[in-house]
Amino acid sequence: MGKGFFNVPIAVNEPVMSYAPGSPEREAVSKTYKDMFNSQIDVPMYINGKDVTTGNTRTMSPPHDHKHIVGTYHLAEKKHVDEAIATALEARKAWSQMPWEQRAGIFLKAAELIAGPFRAKINAATMIAQSKTIHQAEIDAACELIDFLRFNVQFMTDIYMEQPESTSDAWNRVEYRPLEGFTYAVTPFNFTAIAGNLPACMALMGNVVVWKPSDSQIYSAKVIMDIFKEAGVPDGVINVVFGDPVMITDTVMASPDFSGLHFTGSTYIFKELWKQIGNNIHNYKTYPRIVGETGGKDFIVAHKTANAKQVATAIVRGAFEFQGQKCSAASRAYIPNNLWNDVKKYVIEDVKSFKMGSPEDMSNFITAVIHEGSFDKLAKYIDAAKADADAEIIVGGNYDKSKGYFIEPTVIVTTNPKYSTMCTELFGPVITIYVYDDNKYSETLKLVDETSEYALTGAILSTCRYAIEEATKTLQNCAGNFYINDKPTGAVVGQQPFGGARASGTNDKAGSAQNLLRWVSPRMIKETFVTPTNYRYPFLG
Ligand code: NAD
Repeated sequence: MGKGFFNVPIAVNEPVMSYAPGSPEREAVSKTYKDMFNSQIDVPMYINGKDVTTGNTRTMSPPHDHKHIVGTYHLAEKKHVDEAIATALEARKAWSQMPWEQRAGIFLKAAELIAGPFRAKINAATMIAQSKTIHQAEIDAACELIDFLRFNVQFMTDIYMEQPESTSDAWNRVEYRPLEGFTYAVTPFNFTAIAGNLPACMALMGNVVVWKPSDSQIYSAKVIMDIFKEAGVPDGVINVVFGDPVMITDTVMASPDFSGLHFTGSTYIFKELWKQIGNNIHNYKTYPRIVGETGGKDFIVAHKTANAKQVATAIVRGAFEFQGQKCSAASRAYIPNNLWNDVKKYVIEDVKSFKMGSPEDMSNFITAVIHEGSFDKLAKYIDAAKADADAEIIVGGNYDKSKGYFIEPTVIVTTNPKYSTMCTELFGPVITIYVYDDNKYSETLKLVDETSEYALTGAILSTCRYAIEEATKTLQNCAGNFYINDKPTGAVVGQQPFGGARASGTNDKAGSAQNLLRWVSPRMIKETFVTPTNYRYPFLG
């Protein structure tokens, strides 16, 4: 930026549209859904600005109708990954020198494209690919992705403004260089917004990217690619490859120019990737940045002073929206015995009122889980709960994969606070509740702290400030996002930057300046105006 200190538009959160019956947005998304569902697309990879097909394809099907095919996508061979890396490094020469306002312009444009002409398309694609209800698609694929793109531009300029002190004879400047080499984004199935944000925020900071989306999200990843193209991301800056994650990762991480991993997904995979980077460390030209947001075993604790209806609503929304497939979804709850009868009654009433089915029918609150692997795993845990003496299913417990991967929202009550489903991330519509003696609040908080390896989200509900204070202190390290009198899901970009600690991740807070800082390498420049000509200091006489 040579000719002005430019202000970027002040970022505001994208308003969530209602999709109420009769609204124009509902009509638009329903029509788009039908058109997309009833046709087939062929999704190429995208390398150096070109569509790349390999002929080696896999089909794509909606989780709620798994025999129905909506298209195919092409799988990479090693040579395609090598090409993506080479292309990215070539593109870096121009992109890393591009003035920031040009980069900002591209991603602000992408946000506006999603807010307007692509809104129905990205929502419908997310409903089809990930089986989201229209509301879940809207808050993810449209609003959260728009927010990421807009707020990141603002955070980027905040970072650039961060400058050291200078004196009259020495001017100190910091420039926030992109990382040397190329970066690698590996994204999960569950949020279209995360899939778009991980590569975009690194590119925004001047980096070049190889992006590997989840196999279960390719249909909506294709819409993201189309938007980036139309917004003007130059060829080679973001390259998309599909296929065998091990081969792709091995190829990426074997490159001496690999300079950063931006991962969101499961904990085990992240740890394996970290280990692989460690094993290759002597081969790299720089120390790769590693950012990973992974699993959770997110909790709700109710104190005896809480309102039972509020607790039940937090459980029902926190555990079952998007079938519990949010990393922040509540999956264990600790309820005091004085509230239990009421909470139980309200939760059962609510769960029985849910309608389950295709997201095309907008009266459905519950749709399908992502794939057969997830379905089978959840069914196994539900069957075990039916058989185990220390567990009881109080509502739900049925499942059916004949048409789609449908699991009934299920509430398990256990007498064993360390029961398997109190500790293990299941990533589905299953919550386990432990009813505790209301006089044992402090002991229960310790139990919450010690029960899981994760520390992503958690919530305390209480009307007593002392109880809230005690939970805030005792649970300090149990959650990167901690909620008081709310459900533990629904973080909004710019309001509640998101990320967890312990096994949940590096806690670099997606949707904040902290995350963007990981993708730059500051260079300090000191300029001296009157350069000394004599080495002797005054003390030498
Ligand atoms: P996943 O770990 O199965 O897949 C994530 C990505 O890793 C995908 O692109 C996948 O293809 C890739 N992958 C799989 N195996 C790999 C390997 N051996 N090498 C390299 N890459 C590999 O996760 P998922 O099922 O897509 O997403 C669900 C998980 O993500 C849950 O654990 C959830 O908690 C977590 N998640 C966390 C956050 C967060 O912000 N903390 C957000 C969303 C999801």
